[in-house]
Amino acid sequence: MRIDIMTLFPDMCEAFLSGSIIGRARAAGHVDIRCINIRDFAGNKHNRVDDYPYGGGTGMVMQPNPIYDCYRAVTEEGARNCHLIYLTPQGKTLTQERVRELSEMDDLVLLCGHYEGVDERVIEEIVDEEISIGDYVLTGGELPALILADSISRMLPGVLANEDAFTEESHYGHLLEYPQYTRPPEWRGREVPPVLLSGDHGKVDRWRLEQSLERTLRRRPDMLEAAEASGELTKEEQGILEDLKG
Ligand code: SAM
Repeated sequence: MRIDIMTLFPDMCEAFLSGSIIGRARAAGHVDIRCINIRDFAGNKHNRVDDYPYGGGTGMVMQPNPIYDCYRAVTEEGARNCHLIYLTPQGKTLTQERVRELSEMDDLVLLCGHYEGVDERVIEEIVDEEISIGDYVLTGGELPALILADSISRMLPGVLANEDAFTEESHYGHLLEYPQYTRPPEWRGREVPPVLLSGDHGKVDRWRLEQSLERTLRRRPDMLEAAEASGELTKEEQGILEDLKG
């Protein structure tokens, strides 16, 4: 999988992408992530890439041509068959399901806006999909692009120790994950639930499922309602849920 990030702040992106799990995944060749500076395509001696909005108003707007020239270079004059995503608060809100679908693609290009955003004409010209990371506004698309690159990368083969690491997590299915504990067995008077120390894998699995259902019911009843409506709940889950609802 290749992910190219078109940004005015490649150093900001590289700082994140060089560390921890994603840094190791890049070094091992599980994912090829590159950051491309849109300013390198400014095409003027002042390296200017933004200008005042037509019609007036506050802030600056990123001009279309530097972005377009950057896109042409990144896509090797259109020869690369990539899917271009513009990160914008006006896009469709990102979900784990969309992350999973995108992780099955080979070639993604992410466009980060800044200031008041991007000239609409370049969006019309090159963008395949618009994604938002939530109903709030950030100063730039770098954090959203990194969130997208991170969430996709961890689903690629070899990045995490095994697939269970994400298939059992919150939002992969229709439940939130159960609570997690590690050493010590007692901390500030709080004990790890004894079942987790019992060594009985059947009981541990059952306890975790009950906890997942209880948490999801309490924190995200909308997720359970959707799962019930679409028939995704197993018989065991339905039984536990009935007991929980009393
Ligand atoms: N004027 C724009 C609007 O009202 O829709 C917001 C521009 S925002 C200040 C600057 C850039 O940050 C956007 O072009 C986008 O790339 C990024 N951005 C901000 N919030 C975002 C979000 N929730 N999801 C994805 N990208 C976001």
